[in-house]
Formats: sequence, C-alpha cells, structure tokens
Amino acid sequence: MEIALRGIGVSPGIAIGPVLPFGLSGLDVPKYQVEDKDAELERFREAMERVRADLQRLHERTSQDLGPKHAEIFEAHLMMLDDVTFHKEIEDRLREEGWNTEYLIEEFIVRYTKLLESVGDTQFRERNQDVVDVLRRIQGRLLKAEMESLEHLERPCVVVAHDLSPSDTAKMDLENTLGVITDLSGPTSHTAILARAFEIPAVVGLGSVGVQALAGDTVIVDGSRGDVILRPTDLTLSRYTEEKRRQEEDRKALLLAEQTIESITLDGFEIPTMANIELPVEVVHSQTVKAQGIGLYRTEYLFMNRTSLPSEEEQFDAYAEVAAAMKPAPVTLRTLDLGGDKFVSHLQLADEINPQLGWRAIRFCLERPDIFKAQLRAMFRASVHGNVSIMFPLVSGLEELRRVRKMVKEVCADLEQRGVPFDPNVRIGSMIEVPSAVAVADLLAAECDFFSIGTNDLIQYGLAVDRANEKIAHMYEPAHPAILRMIRQVVRAAKSARIPCGLCGEMAGDPVFTEILLGLGVDSLSMSAVSIPMVRAEVANIRMRVARRFARRVLKMGSESAIKKLLYKRHRSRHTLSRILGRYSNGDEQ
Ligand code: PEP
Ligand code: MG
Repeated sequence: MEIALRGIGVSPGIAIGPVLPFGLSGLDVPKYQVEDKDAELERFREAMERVRADLQRLHERTSQDLGPKHAEIFEAHLMMLDDVTFHKEIEDRLREEGWNTEYLIEEFIVRYTKLLESVGDTQFRERNQDVVDVLRRIQGRLLKAEMESLEHLERPCVVVAHDLSPSDTAKMDLENTLGVITDLSGPTSHTAILARAFEIPAVVGLGSVGVQALAGDTVIVDGSRGDVILRPTDLTLSRYTEEKRRQEEDRKALLLAEQTIESITLDGFEIPTMANIELPVEVVHSQTVKAQGIGLYRTEYLFMNRTSLPSEEEQFDAYAEVAAAMKPAPVTLRTLDLGGDKFVSHLQLADEINPQLGWRAIRFCLERPDIFKAQLRAMFRASVHGNVSIMFPLVSGLEELRRVRKMVKEVCADLEQRGVPFDPNVRIGSMIEVPSAVAVADLLAAECDFFSIGTNDLIQYGLAVDRANEKIAHMYEPAHPAILRMIRQVVRAAKSARIPCGLCGEMAGDPVFTEILLGLGVDSLSMSAVSIPMVRAEVANIRMRVARRFARRVLKMGSESAIKKLLYKRHRSRHTLSRILGRYSNGDEQ
C-alpha cells in the first residue's frame, strides 16, 4: 500500500529508487570479555533507556502526524523493551560468561530468529522483524560509532536512516545515492547542508520512515516539497517520473538562460554571490554556476572519516588546490569548526550533554594549539597560491579574538623566521554567529578585516532553537525580527569600521531573503553552489534603493509570521524563477 509522508524538504529535486536502510541493521558487532561487569550492566541499561526515549518520541510524533494506528508499531516495540526473558538472559550471561552486551544481544537475535523460522508461521516471522529492530536499536546505542558505510553502494538507491551524521553524509557514494531521507534532523543541520552541496534530493524530520521503509521498497523523494512516497502506485510513479523529467528540463534551460545574468542590482550595486564548500571537489561545481569566490570553506570535513589527523602538508595541499583553482577569485578558509553536530572519532571529543554550547570550534582550537597552529601554517602557506582570507568560527568576544590573533601572529613569525613564503596581507575575519559577538560587533570590527555572519548558528543561539532538531524546526525562523535586527547591528558595526560584511548561513541561499539582506546592507552572499543561479537572478531583479526602504519598514515590524508573509509576497511578485528550480524552505509559502 502506498504511504505518503511529509517532512522537511532540505535539498531540492526528485529522486525515485529502491530503499537502502542505513544504520538499522548489519552492525559489525565486536566480541570481548568485559573487565567490570557492573559497569557493563550499567552501560546496557543506559542504552535501553535511550532507546526507550527514542521510541517514545517516535510514537508521539507518528501519532500526531499520521494518527494512532500508524504509531501502534512503537507501542509494540516499547513493550518488547520490557521483556523480562530478554533482560534476564542478558544479565545472567553477562554475570556468568563475561561477554560484552552487544555481543550477547547478537547471540540472542540469532537464536531467536532460528527458533521462529523453525515454526514457519509468517505472523511469527513479522514479529521477529519487530524484535530484531528493537534489539538492533539497543546495539546501535551501545556501539554509538558509525556502523556501516555509505561509501561504496552496489547500485543506485535512496538512503533511509533514522539519523545521519555529517561524517556519514560526507562520505556518501555520490554516484549511487539518489536521495536521502531521515527520521530526524532540521533544515540547517550539516547533513542537510551537505545533501544540498551534493545536489542529492533530501527530506528530513520524517519521524518514522526508518521503520516503515523496507530494503528494496520503491520510494519517491520530493526534496523541494518535503514529500516522501513509500511503495507508490503505478499512477503516482508515472506522475513523479514525468515531474522529474520536467524539472530537469527546466533546470537546464534556466542554467543556460542565466549565463548572462550578473550579480548586480538594477541600480548598479554588485553583490558577489559565492559558494560554501566542504571539500575541494566542490570547486568544479562552484565554477559551473559561476561562483564569484568561495565565501566559506568548511575545513573540518578534511578531518572527518579517518583515524588520524591530516598532516600540515595534506592540509596545505587541499587549501592550495582550492585557492589556485579559484584564483583570482577570493577563497575564505574557515578554521576548524568541530563539535556541535560534527565529530571526529579519533579526537575523543567529550560526550557532552549540550554539545552545541560546548567545546566546539574556536574554543577547541584555542586549547589545542598543536592542531590549530598546524592548520594556520597550512593556510598561510596556501595563501601564496591564490586570493586567501582566513576566518574563525564561533567567536564570542574580543578576548577570544585577541587570543586567536596572537596565535596567528606567532605562526606568521615562525614562517617568516624559517623563510617559508606566505602572503602577509591575508585578510583575517571573524564569523558572527553568537549573540554576544553581535553585542560587541563594534569592538570586534575594530580588530578584524571582515565579518561573515553565520546565520545558521546565529538563529540557533539567538532564538535558542537547536538547528538540527526536527521537533522545533518550525521555530527556527530567519525572518524573526530579532535576527534581522542582529544582522542590522552587525552590518552597522562593520560599516562604521569600514570593513566588509558578508553572510554565509543558509539564509543567503534562499532568494526569499535576498532583498531584505541587501536592504540591511550585507555586502556579499555565500551559499550552497546549487542556490547561486537563483540568488544571482534575484539580485539582478532588485533595486537597492527600494530594498533599503523595504528593510527600514520591516525593521519596525514585530511579528515573524507577518514579516515572512511579506517576504514571500514580494518574492512571488518579483518573479517565479525560484519556484521552478525548487529551493530550501522550512515553512510553507504563504
Ligand atoms: C553558520 O553557522 O551560519 C555557518 C555558516 O557555519 P556552519 O553552518 O558550518 O555552522
Ligand atoms: Mg556556524
């Protein structure tokens, strides 16, 4: 039976293909003797509790979104968690034999499956699948680590997961991943950002697709609308196949048509439209869409999916490659932004209760000068190969900026002393993505060469809304007056200090916001490469004088929904280009 689900469309386009469940089965389960049996029992209980919380959340959400009937499956799963026989067997065997609990669960699964298969009843077999799902969830929690790899897929498919980490997404097999759908996540999570960068249609925040989709099922993903259709009927399938063909044709025609469009407003103001990249391979795509530079290179992706740190040499090669390929266009290298939702297993970042407020980005770098200085050296060395700027993530105040700049000075002095060539005029900038940095933007501007506003985090911290949490995705609102006022304050501080102020959050790639951002005084926009043609066309349709007047009007408004409505209305009345191409949006067009 066809099942239609609605999630958050985070990467436009239509994908049609077979389901590949990821992270829900096929774990590589280790077997070892534990030293402390009580501690192991505690670990097991903790994993059970986490799975219980996950299931309760899924139950609640599915019940809300799809009705109680669809949520029954989770009630059954929750009951299985309390199965006394299972608990007793694991505890007894742990006490007697001392094996790790994920291995004991694996043995339980094998025995249980054999037993039910011998009965041969299909109803029993279905129940077995439910039991195995729950047990795999517990194992997954115990193992925590990335369990499977999306690196080499055997055939084209749509990846279906409960959740995907940015590192899973970063190593996806791009040839064979047709689409991505997940139960969790929000529109500015790094997983969503990567899907957009790779132009893979994606829908997140679906709540329960992970348990409803079976391997090999056909699924349709509409990343523009946020729709997912599992096991579609022939009629639906042919409708979407036709829609997909039409979208691809429109896209080609528009790409051709926009070759002559420049990122200049109707009254002659040039607003460079640049690309955000995660990996050097994205440079080619950025050039195809005529990005006027790389406004944000998220260098942390070089540190992911490996067992050791990249050497200074390896980093130098990557940064120099990007700088040289884009030359003479500017390339802004952002220093390591690990933590939050981006982890590197070999760095042993602590398991924090509140990672987004924790030891991330520049905070981590300042305490690991060995890692930070090696990166800075690689960046400065790369500067002779192109037009390089360096910026720092998550700066929260002047003291922090000064500590960073001191390290920069030390690195430059060291390079100079050793006669290593570098460009002494590399521009040094600060990202503005923490409310405290907004409050002291005038002080920071006095000691920076440029600002880049990171709205993904600024909205997260400014509105206290986790950017990767699908439950509160509706509250994650770029059009909130507080956010627009903060942007205004930062731009003013930059203008007073005569430094440029760009914006590189996902907001920059949504043409609905182009006019207000220009009106607020933002000098350049950096976004996923896929959004550049749309935003450039939008810039070319805007009159700066009108945009400024419009911004003054909006800044007086107090309601985010009224502002949003107005922005959509003006965007729609300007033209319909963005609608044809599809775009990221975390709310319905009103
Ligand atoms: C931002 O926070 O807006 C940003 C561009 O950085 P990231 O998305 O990598 O946190
Ligand atoms: Mg950020």
